[in-house]
Amino acid sequence: MPIISYQEKDFQQKIKKVGEYLQNGAVVAFPTETVYGLGASLFQESAIQKVFQVKGRPNDNPLIVHIYSVDQIEELTARPPAVALKLIDHFWPGPLTLVLPKTKVVPNIATAGGQTVALRMPSHPVAQQLLQAAEVPVVAPSANLSGKPSATTAQHVWDDFRDQIDYIIDGGPSQLGVESTVLDLTTSQPTLLRSGGISVEQIETVIGPINVSERESITGTPVKSPGQKYRHYAPQANICIIDDVTELKKHNANQQLPDSTALILTNYSKTKDSITIPAKWKVYRFSDLNELSANLYHIFRECDRVGIKQIYFQKVEESNFGRAIMDRVIRASKK
Ligand code: AMP
Ligand code: MG
Repeated sequence: MPIISYQEKDFQQKIKKVGEYLQNGAVVAFPTETVYGLGASLFQESAIQKVFQVKGRPNDNPLIVHIYSVDQIEELTARPPAVALKLIDHFWPGPLTLVLPKTKVVPNIATAGGQTVALRMPSHPVAQQLLQAAEVPVVAPSANLSGKPSATTAQHVWDDFRDQIDYIIDGGPSQLGVESTVLDLTTSQPTLLRSGGISVEQIETVIGPINVSERESITGTPVKSPGQKYRHYAPQANICIIDDVTELKKHNANQQLPDSTALILTNYSKTKDSITIPAKWKVYRFSDLNELSANLYHIFRECDRVGIKQIYFQKVEESNFGRAIMDRVIRASKK
């Protein structure tokens, strides 16, 4: 299966061709600013079926429809509310997915039989080029096997799918590294279904208070977003969320901490020298949330590959972008 890199000199011609194949029923993995997507034309039912099948994704978990132009909205959702237009104006292209009433054009397979459609316009230039070349809306869940962390590099996509999909477009590592924010605009007050690249604070600055209930889905109460009911990826390792590395002294008091341990630290400078970290441990240090989120899924995959048994994750503040990061880590820590 061909992997096409954005660094190839005839990339422009190639992506145009792949766009045509996508329109005609190919399944194509492509980079976005959040994570890699596994794309199929909204109008090619068997390609959409293949996306569900190769991922092992349950059919009742709907897909996000990706577009490159606001002109495409009209055929997918009838009369978007003013609040949608405001958000689109502020945050598109970018990591914000809006759930809106669907039109007849949107096939049931993409919405899992529901009457709403999730729409997003990615900002990644390669995603935009591909969508433009395809000329059709493209459904794309994250390009990973269900139950694995989302792919943030072309290598991750290859590791999960090999020859099972038609093309992989390599656009380098995804910049954000966590998925888009999903906001439901079909409820009386806009409702957060998944935290992500655009924060609650950013959204509320534009449209006022929103209903934030997504944490309920983590604690097992009924959920609105079908995807939230599925157990998310958890690495083989046990994940323990800590405030500070000094807490490790406590953990080490009664038992020897295993060699196969990883430490994920942000704000490390505050706690430097407070404990001696065993040389055999894998230590990942990040200076800010952007760097942490860009690397999080890669670290989870790497920890599985090298057989890490225990991960200590230093918690980050659950505001702004930190909310999305903590959401993913808390899900991953639940077994
Ligand atoms: P993924 O494509 O794997 O990043 O997941 C997409 C997320 O968007 C999942 O949590 C889906 O359940 C959610 N989603 C997609 N379409 C809809 C919709 N029409 N209504 C509510 N949630 C949706
Ligand atoms: Mg996913």
